[in-house]
Amino acid sequence: MKFKPSGISTVIIVDKTKGASKTLQVKTKHISRFKHYVVSVLGLIVILSGTIFYLNSQNKQQEIEKAQLQAQITKLKNAIPPPVPAVKAPAENKAQTYIQEIEGKLQTINSYLRKRGLKGFSTKSVGGNGGDVEASKLSDEEKYSLYDDYLSRFLTAVAFTPMGYPRISSLTSYFGYRSDPFDAGHAEFHPGIDFKGERGDAAKCTANGKVVFTGWFGGYGNCVRIQHKNNFETLYGHLSKIVVKVGQEVIAGEKIGEIGSTGRSTGNHLHYEVRKNGKPVNPISYLSLNN
Ligand SMILES: [Zn+2]
Repeated sequence: MKFKPSGISTVIIVDKTKGASKTLQVKTKHISRFKHYVVSVLGLIVILSGTIFYLNSQNKQQEIEKAQLQAQITKLKNAIPPPVPAVKAPAENKAQTYIQEIEGKLQTINSYLRKRGLKGFSTKSVGGNGGDVEASKLSDEEKYSLYDDYLSRFLTAVAFTPMGYPRISSLTSYFGYRSDPFDAGHAEFHPGIDFKGERGDAAKCTANGKVVFTGWFGGYGNCVRIQHKNNFETLYGHLSKIVVKVGQEVIAGEKIGEIGSTGRSTGNHLHYEVRKNGKPVNPISYLSLNN
């Protein structure tokens, strides 16, 4: 290109293959504008590229942040405690409470029976206190049925265990060693307790059982012996009258004779003994369930 002062530039276009050439007359100002265009377009390309790169990097940053947030959410979700198990229906809870209370009372009764030499009975399989896994498989009806069985056995135990007073009156002599009423200064073993009473007052048996002896029995005078379950026996001495016969079945509270002063006795009173496996035990333990 050659520049002419006239403001017109001559542009020569050479075709190398044909060896020919063309000349164009172009205003010089157009050529310098063309340069400006090129510079402008290049600048625009640079700006656009920069913008695209910037946006792209921004996008990447956002993705990283998104992933971090996602991780935080997962972490928080794991940190939330598991939901509290649904509370059982009130009716079911109530039934369970009753069962536990009944079981607690049965265990108390058991401890009383054990103190009286009875083995007691097991309520373990019912599991009211939650001790037995198998129990959870039982329906309420089955549990109630089991408790009914236990109570039936308990009633039998109560009926056949010497319990309470053969006569409601004050005690005049206790179980154990005492001064011999016939030989002052000497000790003797008193195998029972004596109840105050008048001749003719009723003496009552303290448990269901079978009369195994009636009649004169050494120092006991007129005496009644009754055999109960669990190797228990009760003995009633110094009677003035006997109203039962050997072999007779008696129930708790039934009159077996009348108070007197027969045998080795210094006055009207009832001598009462409880024997377990043939040995006298302290009847005090059998007067009330609270001992
Ligand atoms: Zn006595």
